[in-house]
Amino acid sequence: MTTKAHCPNCKIEVVWNAAAKWRPFCSERCRLIDLGEWFNENNRIAGNSLFEQPPPSDWPDDEDWSGR
Ligand SMILES: [Zn+2]
Repeated sequence: MTTKAHCPNCKIEVVWNAAAKWRPFCSERCRLIDLGEWFNENNRIAGNSLFEQPPPSDWPDDEDWSGR
């Protein structure tokens, strides 16, 4: 008997046995793509918190030279 599953990434049919190294994914590539999407999702959430921080202060100080 052969157990089969569908790759969560590309939906291709994967034979689910000891040789199916990347199950439930069909290949390492699909597994990495899926992990990458998860990673990007986390980055987006983390990136939102950057807006709560003050802007970088590497701009020249206008008042310093205009006051002279
Ligand atoms: Zn796949």
